[in-house]
Amino acid sequence: MVDNVDKKTRSRMMSGIRSSNTKPEVLTRKALHRLGYRFRLDSKVGKIKPDIVLRSLKVAVFTHGCYWHQHQGCKLAYSDRDYADKWKNKFEDNQKRDQRVLNELTNQGWRVAVIWECTTREAEVFQDVIGNLDVWIKTGDSSYFESDYQKT
Ligand SMILES: [Zn+2]
Repeated sequence: MVDNVDKKTRSRMMSGIRSSNTKPEVLTRKALHRLGYRFRLDSKVGKIKPDIVLRSLKVAVFTHGCYWHQHQGCKLAYSDRDYADKWKNKFEDNQKRDQRVLNELTNQGWRVAVIWECTTREAEVFQDVIGNLDVWIKTGDSSYFESDYQKT
């Protein structure tokens, strides 16, 4: 998160926690589309609204902002700590909800993938992530996929 954003921008960012069409989301959609996957926008699984739903494959894809979802060990999650203290409860709520959603989907036989924002920022890294995701979708050998944290 950028340090020098003005108050207005900041509050807009804060209110945009679950905003759709975030950049990582758009990038991931485009990449999957390019690989031949087809999906409708705004699909739901029960009450849960993953960013991308591959219904026939029972795969749900989430793109997580590293700050709001507190990506463990990621520098994007730990920037701006003074400000972050005020949002501690929000972070905890988000993390609890993420876990609950993961459990619910997995219990219903869905496979869940999480693409972290930090792994979408560089074209080469992102390409690897999407390649790995593609393999994971096709081989179907585990119920959970997470894009690798980019150590920079
Ligand atoms: Zn991250």
